[in-house]
Amino acid sequence: MTYSTEEKKSLIKKGKITASKNIKGFLNAVRKKNGSVNAILHVNENAVAEAEAADRKIKAGKAGRLAGLAIVVKSNISVTGLPVTCASKTLENYYGTFDADVIAKIKAEDGIIIGMANMDEFACGSSGETSAFGATHNPAAPGRIPGGTSSGSAAAVAAGFCDLALGSDTGGSIRNPASHCGVVGIKPSYGRVSRYGLVDMTMSFDQIGPLSNDAYGAALLMEVIAGKSENDGTTQFRDERNVQSGNARFATANKVPDYLKLLQNGVKGIKIGMSPEFEEMCSDKRIYGLIEDAAHKFAAATKSTIKQIKLPYVDMAIQAYYPIVYVEFFSGTRKFDGRKYGKKIEDSCGEEVLRRILGGREISKAEHHGTYYRKALMAKKRIAEGFESAFKDVDIIISPTTPMLPHRIGTKISDPMVMYAYDAYTIPVNLAGVCAGVVPAGKIDGIPVGLQTMTPAFREELLLQTLAGIEKQSL
Ligand code: GLN
Repeated sequence: MTYSTEEKKSLIKKGKITASKNIKGFLNAVRKKNGSVNAILHVNENAVAEAEAADRKIKAGKAGRLAGLAIVVKSNISVTGLPVTCASKTLENYYGTFDADVIAKIKAEDGIIIGMANMDEFACGSSGETSAFGATHNPAAPGRIPGGTSSGSAAAVAAGFCDLALGSDTGGSIRNPASHCGVVGIKPSYGRVSRYGLVDMTMSFDQIGPLSNDAYGAALLMEVIAGKSENDGTTQFRDERNVQSGNARFATANKVPDYLKLLQNGVKGIKIGMSPEFEEMCSDKRIYGLIEDAAHKFAAATKSTIKQIKLPYVDMAIQAYYPIVYVEFFSGTRKFDGRKYGKKIEDSCGEEVLRRILGGREISKAEHHGTYYRKALMAKKRIAEGFESAFKDVDIIISPTTPMLPHRIGTKISDPMVMYAYDAYTIPVNLAGVCAGVVPAGKIDGIPVGLQTMTPAFREELLLQTLAGIEKQSL
């Protein structure tokens, strides 16, 4: 029997399903099926004991909002006592010595961490194939990649290994696998969720976010992990007055809205933006057609209007993103020199990670400063301004999540640009610092296709309402 997250939460709260039974059920599924999916790298041996403790709290009426729900965590988020390998040989034997802010919040609400997820090595990739511990398989499209880099997190949700999962998204790593695996995934606004305890891929873009089988689950986990933290300055020092106006740069992360409650309101009479630039970028036109149909249906159901908007420079997003990523990744990985953590990264990593380290080292050289990095920052600014002005005309923007369907596992892709192209729709969102989420919108050739919605920064409630609305119509 599969339940929606809302039903499951309520059944556990009422004592109709115990937390222990819930966790044991998932552990059983992992035991039976993970061999073929390879979504989970490590199972938490204490999960059942933790569930039993949650059951005692539930009985006493003292349990938190995630009581007894099973949560899988991407292997680049620190959990005390569990391996934080980043799916790399470099950190093969590294165990978390503290809880990331998001983990501390989950534990405080009695969520049960049942395991650590597979991922692309150090969150570099788009397919889930760069893990040092083998590729993850797509449970919703057998033989195909699940997308990346939060491949194991999305696949774990799709395979029925957990109720909810955490991923991280630098340029699409939550949304891309959510789309390919047919689940819901959110990339929160930059500064909405504390990154303390996340092994950065690119610290000026990364956000931790939820994956779930439904919008309710994503909203529930968002509500728990969002908010100001003393440990992460990007979640602070912003101005509450700009939240409603959607001003990306100065909006605040200090107050967390009641997402679950707001979810019930739904949306009505909003303005939806779609852009010809995005249509052009879609290499598989069937995907664009499917997304357009879903957007029209949603507009009709909610008495909303669709408007064509201009998003200049989005076609430059990939070129702007990678120089910044290479430079920040190079800098961030200098701590993996083999002395304090694990092995020296250059001696133990895979090809894509090495490409970024060497590329970042080169671009960082003084003589290239104005050529690549500064130009990339300029393009980033233009793209962010494009979003800011588009959001003066529309409330949300709808697009595909990826321009093509996931390839078959093992397909030889020797040109990195072909792999990078998967993120053409997701990267602009990180460059602009706004928020976006993905919800299943249909299938092509039996393969799930996710619809991406973007909203102004710190409008996660509008994002979640939209995803819930689209989810309803595609049921
Ligand atoms: N595929 C993109 C990259 O390789 C995004 C990765 C991510 O979001 N972590 O950089």
